[in-house]
Amino acid sequence: MSALAIEALLHEGKAKKVFQTNRAGVVAVQFKDDATAFNGEKFSQLGGKGLLNWEISARLFEALERQGQPSHYLGCLEPGWMAVQELEIVPLEVVLRNRAAGSLCRQLPLAPETPLQPALLDLYYKDDALGDPLLTEARLELLGLVSAAERQELERQARQVNAGLRRLLEPLAIELVDFKLEFGRNQAGQLLLADEISPDTCRLWDCSAGANPEQRILDKDRFRQDLGGVVEAYGEVLKRVQGLGAMPRNYL
Ligand code: UDP
Repeated sequence: MSALAIEALLHEGKAKKVFQTNRAGVVAVQFKDDATAFNGEKFSQLGGKGLLNWEISARLFEALERQGQPSHYLGCLEPGWMAVQELEIVPLEVVLRNRAAGSLCRQLPLAPETPLQPALLDLYYKDDALGDPLLTEARLELLGLVSAAERQELERQARQVNAGLRRLLEPLAIELVDFKLEFGRNQAGQLLLADEISPDTCRLWDCSAGANPEQRILDKDRFRQDLGGVVEAYGEVLKRVQGLGAMPRNYL
C-alpha cells in the first residue's frame, strides 16, 4: 500500500482539523492549540495543548481498545496527528457525570461534588448556534437523529467507556468527574466512539492534590475559571497516562 497522504481540509472544529487522505474511509485529524470555552466566547491559544491532547487521546483510545471498547482511532501519524475511520458524526454530545459539576449545578439544586450513582447520562444537541441544548426524550425522538436501537447502543457504549476510563485513571490518582463523548456511524453503519478523550472534554481531579480545591483541577476548568497553569495541568495528565503503556502505535 502506498504511504498515507494527507489531502484536502474537510472540516475545521474548535479544537481539531479533519483532512481527507488518499485512503478510502480514513481521515487525518490534527489537534490544535486553540482553546475555547462558553460556546466560543472565550478564546486563547495555548502553546503545546494540541500535542498534549493528541497523545492523551491516542493513549486512552488504545487503552480502551485493549479493554474491548472500539473507537474510530486507527493510529498516530506525525506528532499532533492521528488517523481515524471516517464516520458520519451523530450530532449528539453524550455527557456522563460521576459527580455534580459545571452546568448541572447551574441548572439543578445540586451541591457541587455530589456523587451521582449510577452515573448521570445526558444528551445534548450538538449545535453551537443553538448553544448545544439539553435534549428531552421527546425532543430526541422529534429530531430522529438515532433509532431506538442506536440510542441503546450509544448509551451502553458510553457507560462502558465511563467504567473503563475510571478503571484506567483511578490507579493514576485521577478522578473522572464528568466527560463528553461523540459517536459516529462507519460505512458498515456501526456506531463507533469518535472525537477525542482529553482534558478539554473531561473533568479530571488530582486525587493527590492538597486541600485547596483549585489545585486538584487538571482540565479545561483551569482555562474556564482563569486559574492559570492549563498546559502544565494537561502535561501532568499526560505524564500519568504515559504510565498506561508504551508509545501509541503508528498508523502505517
Ligand atoms: N463538554 C465538552 N464539550 C461541550 C460541553 C461539555 O467537552 O461542548 C464536557 C465538559 O468539559 C465537561 C462535561 O462535558 O467535562 C460536562 O460539561 P457541562 O455540561 O458541565 O458544561 P460546562 O461546565 O462545560 O458548561
